[in-house]
Amino acid sequence: MARKTIPYRCPQCGKLHDYEVYEGVDVSKEPQFRSKVMDASIFDFVCPHCGAVNGVIYPFVYHDPTHRFMVMLVDSHSPEDPFTELFNQEDASEDAIRGVIEDMKSRYRFRTVKTPNDLMEKIAVFEAGLDDRVVEVLKQGILASDEKGRIEHLWFAPTEKGPALLVEEEQGFTDVIPIDKKLYETVEQEYAPTFDDRITRIDEEWARSCIK
Ligand SMILES: [Zn+2]
Repeated sequence: MARKTIPYRCPQCGKLHDYEVYEGVDVSKEPQFRSKVMDASIFDFVCPHCGAVNGVIYPFVYHDPTHRFMVMLVDSHSPEDPFTELFNQEDASEDAIRGVIEDMKSRYRFRTVKTPNDLMEKIAVFEAGLDDRVVEVLKQGILASDEKGRIEHLWFAPTEKGPALLVEEEQGFTDVIPIDKKLYETVEQEYAPTFDDRITRIDEEWARSCIK
């Protein structure tokens, strides 16, 4: 797994330290890193001076060849479409990207996300064998019926009873809405023909533009 060192100033004590970060992980080779991503601990910087733990967003690629997807967490300095830039690079065959480019013709899913929570959600959706675009359209249906505007966000989550959406309101998580299989399939049939496979940022904003 490729690593690099980045400087970071602790917001608690103001001291500047170098941190070694992972540029990406292939979980088929290093499965132990999945849990570090799913609890976001891979993004924690522990300040060696004051001990403060700070969550830091830095560019990171999560690659799961088994479920055939790659999700890139981007920061505010990242290019608008990092996948296109990445595939055009001379050394793009290195590390986590190796093998994927030759495999491009098969249906691999590439996504960009802006937060560790969004990354975790993509992993959960793809591991469940679902299409994140259908899930986002389903969310819009629920948000449209939320007349009082209480819902701040809906998060995909696998539960014992099957895939579901967790309802996040101002006071925290308030409900769990199971994803109805029939409804999922109906939405998939209706919307899938309109999906543009070149778009790698699939979020609420994308879903709103898709439904229009
Ligand atoms: Zn500190």
